[in-house]
Amino acid sequence: MSAKTIKTAIRKFNKFLITAHINPEGDSIGSQVAMASLLKKLGKSAIILNEGPVPYILQFMKGTEEIMKEMPASFDFEAAVILDCPDLSRVGNAAEHITKEKNIINIDHHVSNENFGKYNWVDTERSSAGEMVFELFKAFKLKLDYDDAVAIYVAMMTDTGSFKYSNTTSRTHSVTAELIDAGVRPYEIYGRIYETNSIQNTSLLGEALQTLKVSDDGKIAWLWVTREMLKKTKASLEGTEGIINFARSIESSDIAILFRETGTENRVKVSFRSKGNVDVNKLAASFGGGGHATASGCTVFGKIEEVEKKVLEKASGMLG
Ligand code: 5GP
Ligand code: MN
Repeated sequence: MSAKTIKTAIRKFNKFLITAHINPEGDSIGSQVAMASLLKKLGKSAIILNEGPVPYILQFMKGTEEIMKEMPASFDFEAAVILDCPDLSRVGNAAEHITKEKNIINIDHHVSNENFGKYNWVDTERSSAGEMVFELFKAFKLKLDYDDAVAIYVAMMTDTGSFKYSNTTSRTHSVTAELIDAGVRPYEIYGRIYETNSIQNTSLLGEALQTLKVSDDGKIAWLWVTREMLKKTKASLEGTEGIINFARSIESSDIAILFRETGTENRVKVSFRSKGNVDVNKLAASFGGGGHATASGCTVFGKIEEVEKKVLEKASGMLG
């Protein structure tokens, strides 16, 4: 399916619920906000429902202030637009409102996407879900306002690691050229997202880097973020974003792993990154997670030492 199919689907309905994956980041928030604007420009009514709060660094985006945490009782939507989300279990508490009879429009770029919608547009060649919403603006011949352009730019910039990952293509740059023409100032957006670290979160990075290890062959590099470290530094979970890149940046590493103790005891959030020669989506999938070939994640139950052991075994097995 393509943007055209989604265009036809959107035309059929008037009341939309928009949601994305839990633990939202730049792409999920950016694509949702841009999508809401697109639907409103078409004269439709739309609300965004997300389980968690909007991360602090993304709150500057216009439209994020309207994101709801709970479903308004009177809002009987006809279709749900689900963005940047590989499967329905990742939707969070919005899922309870998305029953089978609701028309699901699934727009995503994850290779692990389960095509769970009535209308599915899954394109793993896209840098981000935001880039796909941009194409919908084009398909509807809608004018992109400054705020739409910012939201889409944030989605693209964050999912491409500032236009340096392997999902950065000439199309990515063509789209961002149009966003810049619509008024986006790259240095400003970069500053808002990447140069707004708190001292607490930066201290956490220091703690995490002390745990950096590499396997004997150098191919796996990993680090930890423990509850203890979070407590000591007073950093937020949001502050763990990006730490994994230090493991990936080790020259010899093919697989980078971050083990994070989440709030809940005996639950470890595991993130994977690769440089492209290992499919870490498969690795995450073997623990019930998913994502992309070069960036994926899962949650594993157990103590962090046990989880580390299990995951490292699987990872070295994959390297063969
Ligand atoms: P991160 O490591 O930044 O949390 O996530 C990297 C990528 O993996 C993202 O595309 C994210 O959607 C995906 N991902 C992370 N955790 C999970 C998970 O538990 N399940 C699935 N299916 N995907 C995940
Ligand atoms: Mn994405």
